[in-house]
Amino acid sequence: LIHVHVTAIRRHGAIDGYVALIRDVTREEKLQRARRDFVANVSHELRTPLTTIKSYVEALLMSEQDPETREQFLHVVEHEADRMVRLTEDLLQLSGLESGERSYQEVQVDIVQWLDRAERRFALSAQSQGVQLQVEARARGCLWGDADLLDRLLDNLVSNALQYTPSGGRVTVCAERDGGCLRVTVADTGIGIPAEDLPHVFERFYRVDKARSRRRGGTGLGLALAREIAERHGGRIRIDSRVGEGTTVVVSLPLEEGGCL
Ligand code: ADP
Repeated sequence: LIHVHVTAIRRHGAIDGYVALIRDVTREEKLQRARRDFVANVSHELRTPLTTIKSYVEALLMSEQDPETREQFLHVVEHEADRMVRLTEDLLQLSGLESGERSYQEVQVDIVQWLDRAERRFALSAQSQGVQLQVEARARGCLWGDADLLDRLLDNLVSNALQYTPSGGRVTVCAERDGGCLRVTVADTGIGIPAEDLPHVFERFYRVDKARSRRRGGTGLGLALAREIAERHGGRIRIDSRVGEGTTVVVSLPLEEGGCL
């Protein structure tokens, strides 16, 4: 997108020439559009569970239900509330990470336990989706880092992999030593990402296919947050993908002083 601004230069009342200002506003325009889409998407993502919660609470208030129905309704409310908590956590974490406000608590994080926790969190949903989830810790020892953030990093990558992998596919998570760093690979056999989108997927708000992403509850924050967390730990993240074949995300995190950069 190009903005052109033309001004006539006059001398003694007569036009003597023109000055044309040509500015490429593609980037700005894209960013602005991304922001607008993002706000719309977040609002939508928050409104959907809120509407559900409201109607279930109304039903609970309006009539007497048997205890079983009551409990079912309350579970729906809890589930929807959890969704909203996750979304707002992503938003807060991202803005906190960026402004450096969030306190960063560095502890020793055991690699095997870190992967185990992720496996336990996702085993059920992988199973119900018909996707095989394989988690393999080929490295022992500890990372120095913020345990919550590191959990979140794996969560975002594994949940993407599961989200974009149809039934019958496979998601593998593997951690191995690579010199002074730990290399964590999250690979899937899913739908993949078109080459032209690949350089942008770490940008905030960026979603490859809006319709598809919204249906799946995406906000375009997952990978942006994953990158922030990796960098905050002195690491790096990269992505490789082929449409129809699958996606591989590799995170390198320093195990030692000096790390892997
Ligand atoms: P979202 O909340 O939309 O998943 P992300 O930042 O996590 O946002 O990812 C950005 C976009 O990258 C997604 O909308 C999706 O289109 C694409 N993407 C991310 N991970 C994968 C994957 N494993 N397979 C296919 N597409 C992916």
